[in-house]
Amino acid sequence: MPVVRRSPGSPARAPQVGCVLRPRSALGDLPLLPPKRRTRSEGPPLSSPPKRSSDHEDRRSAASEQGATRADRIILFVGSRLLLRVTESGSRLPTPDETRSVIDLDGDGIPDIFVTVRHRAGVDIPAYGIDDGGLEPPEGFRLDGLRVAFHDLSEPDFRAAGTARQRVEWRRTHRFCSRCGAHNRLDPRQEAMVCVSCGQSHFPRVAPAVIVLVQRGPEALLGRSPHFKPGVYSTLAGFVEAGESLEECVHREIHEEVGVRITNLRYFGSQPHPFPNSLMIGFVADWLEGDIRIDRDEIEDARWFRADDLPALPHPMSIARALVDDFVARAGDA
Ligand SMILES: [Zn+2]
Repeated sequence: MPVVRRSPGSPARAPQVGCVLRPRSALGDLPLLPPKRRTRSEGPPLSSPPKRSSDHEDRRSAASEQGATRADRIILFVGSRLLLRVTESGSRLPTPDETRSVIDLDGDGIPDIFVTVRHRAGVDIPAYGIDDGGLEPPEGFRLDGLRVAFHDLSEPDFRAAGTARQRVEWRRTHRFCSRCGAHNRLDPRQEAMVCVSCGQSHFPRVAPAVIVLVQRGPEALLGRSPHFKPGVYSTLAGFVEAGESLEECVHREIHEEVGVRITNLRYFGSQPHPFPNSLMIGFVADWLEGDIRIDRDEIEDARWFRADDLPALPHPMSIARALVDDFVARAGDA
């Protein structure tokens, strides 16, 4: 098998796609638990940005790079669509050989963005990004948005694909400095793009969002967005605003969306949410006062549900589902 020789951070060359890719027809994405959207602008630059510990590719050892080239699967994004090998039961990440049957990853056909991402302990896999020139995969392959792939991939595969998507997209959208417009280059010391003219560092952005299960005695508060599949209800979520603590965000979001006040806020856990670059921070809270009063700009329905009478729920891999499963388990213990 040919070896990927490109050193990370080397100048991008024009992607050359194998002839087996064809112009595509329209493919749709399915929405999945989007937290409340807010218009967000580029954050202000830090005058002295703190050093970030990162798994930035230039800091990776040669062994890691070699490990990535020996990986048993590859992540390839064509624009925002992920290359998948069709199987009898759905799809999976393609092997290196399968990927090379679709696109020339070596020589002159090297894609324009290459990163390595952690798949599981001690195992990194390579991820590539090429621009979407209206391409369509050959027989036996699919190009799907991550929200669609979510339903087929294992948790480690989805997690790695989500990480790859964020890092590839960050590289793709930070080729130029947002302060002065000059070119950025990859910082060899940390995961940052640095402007060749003004020196501004641009880091991958992570947008924190809270997600909360509110409990009132034996009932949990669940709502649904118009974007959800029919019948599906989930825990409430929203993006953290500038200058706001996570706790303040939870209180504000719950009151804005459904009009109730909460108390006894407890941290539950967190989950990266690559749609496109969120970190979901989960909480459990108790209802304090107020009747449900829905903000119809955000959600279309919200209700109290008992553990033995739940609606359709989000995907088992989501933190929203973990919050509901935890509520059900606690109800069973009561
Ligand atoms: Zn600049």
